[in-house]
Amino acid sequence: MYKFIVAGGGSAGVSVVGQLVRTRRIDPSEILVIEPSPIHNYQPGWTMVGGGLLGTEDDIKRKSIHFLRQHTNEMFHSQVNILQKEVIGFDPENNKVIVTGDQEITYESLIVALGLRLDYECIPGLVPALEDSNSPVGSIYRWPYALKMNKSIANFKGGNAIFCMPSQPVKCGGAPQKIMYLAKDQFVKNGVNDYTINYYMPQPAIFGVPKYGEILKKIAESKGINVHSLHTLTKVDKDKKLVYFKKDDKEIQVQYDLLHVAPPHKPLEVIKNSRIADSTGFVNIDKFTLRHVKYPNVWSIGDCSNLPTSKTLAAALSQTNVLVHNIFNAIDGRPVNASYTGYSSCPIFVGENKLLLCEFKYDGALDESFPFLQGSPHIFFYWMKRYFFPRVYLHMIKRGWWFGRHTVFRPKFF
Ligand SMILES: Cc1cc2nc3c(=O)[nH]c(=O)nc-3n(C[C@H](O)[C@H](O)[C@H](O)COP(=O)(O)OP(=O)(O)OC[C@H]3O[C@@H](n4cnc5c(N)ncnc54)[C@H](O)[C@@H]3O)c2cc1C
Repeated sequence: MYKFIVAGGGSAGVSVVGQLVRTRRIDPSEILVIEPSPIHNYQPGWTMVGGGLLGTEDDIKRKSIHFLRQHTNEMFHSQVNILQKEVIGFDPENNKVIVTGDQEITYESLIVALGLRLDYECIPGLVPALEDSNSPVGSIYRWPYALKMNKSIANFKGGNAIFCMPSQPVKCGGAPQKIMYLAKDQFVKNGVNDYTINYYMPQPAIFGVPKYGEILKKIAESKGINVHSLHTLTKVDKDKKLVYFKKDDKEIQVQYDLLHVAPPHKPLEVIKNSRIADSTGFVNIDKFTLRHVKYPNVWSIGDCSNLPTSKTLAAALSQTNVLVHNIFNAIDGRPVNASYTGYSSCPIFVGENKLLLCEFKYDGALDESFPFLQGSPHIFFYWMKRYFFPRVYLHMIKRGWWFGRHTVFRPKFF
């Protein structure tokens, strides 16, 4: 029996374990993290990989840029237990999780942080195109395909560059645009002249929060990017270099010379098929307290939860503060009184060493930290994202020294 089981050792799992340990309310050995992957990824860095900000594919491999990929056990306190297995079931009635090998493990409190599933397979022809090293198709949503995107952009000699956005939910919904603006910078740098850039999305607007949607629309226009709303990617034909979209029940086919695809995002089957899921397949928690609506010792954080906000690391960091406060209050029999506002942030590289910092909360209401700078892209945010945050991630979050937008100051909840 563990005091805390944290299912999933991705970004949200690292953040919550760091803060649990930092409270000194428990011994680290009372925590079990269940995480099958021996490698921990800093996914926000993959945009920089694909977009060439960290150099060429060879540079990245040679330098093995250390903040991008770490050994999982280096992301946790040395006394935290790590079980390198997959969660295959939840039995919340009996306070148990089931892992590969049908091993059952009991907990006092469970924190579910399993992320979500990228469904590349549901687009016919997409996986063969991504796997074919000669086909100019990439995706920053998976490490090898992000490296391939880097190479495909570097090899692009002109023609039609297509960038696709899927339906929501999407983790970091701005990422499919970021890679497009960074790609344009690379085209200019490489002296490519004869090209068009087309952005296809199923949504009606380029960004869900109207203020940022307007700014990004103007940026796309100023860069000569054609934005196509209400287009859903349906198929890729790598041999003919054709991509297919559905719009108003009509099929449209477009020739490509470079293609970036952000895949549809789905809930994990292990959650969807369990009692902790809601009807959409995500963990069913109270959107303010982050506690499960039915099982009081089950909590969730990060991309796997059904919180109606944008799925980002920034959101997970904000949720960590609330969850850690509430979980100890629940254990102590005090009111579960910290409330998550829905805060999320999407830092959008727009090219030319600038970044638009989008910050918002539930219902798309603005929640800006630097309102005087957030009316347009700024070099300050670019430097923060490019140089500062990767180091914060690597050194501070796992130690519980970073409280998201509260920086190094633990927020107080009354
Ligand atoms: C290209 C890209 C750019 C991004 N840019 C930004 C950005 O600029 N800013 C920002 O804030 N966010 C950004 N994000 C989003 C951010 O990375 C995610 O929101 C964040 O990683 C969510 O953390 P998580 O722990 O919920 O999920 P993950 O980090 O995906 O971790 C989930 C973990 O669960 C594990 N797991 C899965 N299934 C099981 C199982 N059955 N049993 C046990 N473990 C399992 C996985 O191995 C993984 O380690 C970006 C993401 C991508 C892909």
